[in-house]
Amino acid sequence: MRGLPSIDELLTRPSLSDALSRHPRARVVAALRHAVHTARTRLLRGEPRPFEDSDVHEALAELSRPRLRPVLNATGVVLHTNLGRAPLADAAAERVREVARGYSNLEFDLDEGERGSRYAPVIDLLRELTGAESAVVVNNNAAAVLLVLAALCSGREAIVSRGELVEIGGGFRVPDVMRQSGAHLVEVGTTNRTRLSDYEEAITERTGLLVKVHKSNFAQVGFTEEVETAGLAGLASRRGVPLFEDLGSGSLYRLHSPGLTREPTVREVVKAGADVVTFSGDKLLGGPQAGVIVGREELVERIRRHPLNRALRVDKMTVAALEATLELYRDERYAEIPAVRLLEQTPGELRARAQRLQELLAACGVSVRVVETVSQVGGGAMPLAAPSSWACAIEEGDAAALQARLRSASVPIVARVHEDRLLLDVRCLPDTELEQVAASVASTLGPARDKGH
Ligand SMILES: *Cc1c(COP(=O)(O)O)cnc(C)c1O
Repeated sequence: MRGLPSIDELLTRPSLSDALSRHPRARVVAALRHAVHTARTRLLRGEPRPFEDSDVHEALAELSRPRLRPVLNATGVVLHTNLGRAPLADAAAERVREVARGYSNLEFDLDEGERGSRYAPVIDLLRELTGAESAVVVNNNAAAVLLVLAALCSGREAIVSRGELVEIGGGFRVPDVMRQSGAHLVEVGTTNRTRLSDYEEAITERTGLLVKVHKSNFAQVGFTEEVETAGLAGLASRRGVPLFEDLGSGSLYRLHSPGLTREPTVREVVKAGADVVTFSGDKLLGGPQAGVIVGREELVERIRRHPLNRALRVDKMTVAALEATLELYRDERYAEIPAVRLLEQTPGELRARAQRLQELLAACGVSVRVVETVSQVGGGAMPLAAPSSWACAIEEGDAAALQARLRSASVPIVARVHEDRLLLDVRCLPDTELEQVAASVASTLGPARDKGH
């Protein structure tokens, strides 16, 4: 331990002076502390390795790159929640940049010169695209569900099918959220079958909402029955109770690609008679993380005025990205929305990209096989969809070890292991990055090979 250098000594160590001079002083000091700490931890663990200059170089490299940074998605999962879900359209990213770097009219009405609404930029677009009367936007769809229930059903009963009391992922369970909102849950039907009469018999003067939760991340097969939105909407209006549907994904456009399943669009659900509908901004819609609430004016107004709305409100970057994304839908420029484009690629296109990657890898001395595979939509959407895709399969070496090494590349590559081989699914790899992927894979395989042979 006594052999560990002091920070002062390191600051003047000639072998480090070059490296240290390239960084701001505060970062240098933080890196030196970090390096000494690493070496001390090593010694305490009984490893014989003493302090080395390389500890400083590693600490500097670590502190010089952001912890949140771009990765290359070779998993084939388009809406990968762990990888940030939907990539934004260029137009949306550009709009965020414009609005984020300076002041904006976020809550300022430029015509009247007085306070305006931060939802104004997206309300008209959402009305046009969904057919709903009004809209409000919060941080994510989980927040939207919480807010709708709190505003419309607190202290009252929310009737929901047992087959829809689901966990969305990341510990988000519909019954827990309902409890947090102050709504009392009334479960009807059974896990596999719920009929209209089940809802009907549960309605009392305490009922605040009929709730329908879209089965976005799972499917039921066999002896099943559920009530469609239109059926529930009829009951709701006969009995004077609003119908709330948590749609999850909120598609604004019907995806056509083979292998995808049919997902209701927001417009269809609104048309079928749901009074309030919520959906995510960053699932199939392909925009920023957000929870969109659309529905009847009078209900949306109550939701907007609820105090929780203030706690869940979106910031200017979200409004900017959402407005730009919705404009692409309005203008029918679907191919410019990455989530849509990535899901609508043809097998021919994907195969050609895999072949191109194979060539680039071959030029780096790496031979791979081009194989057909199956991608996923991800983000808890279309659980049964199996869009076919193409991948480069690396069949040499230990697939799991190689997968780990690719994650530590300068631009990390996240790939999938299937049947003991590493698959680079090209669905979500941009054409412009293929050379980088090839170079990265080649340099990663290099050391693995030396070890293996
Ligand atoms: C994904 C999902 C949510 C949660 O949406 P986030 O935007 O991730 O908060 C809620 N309900 C359903 C049905 C979903 O599919």
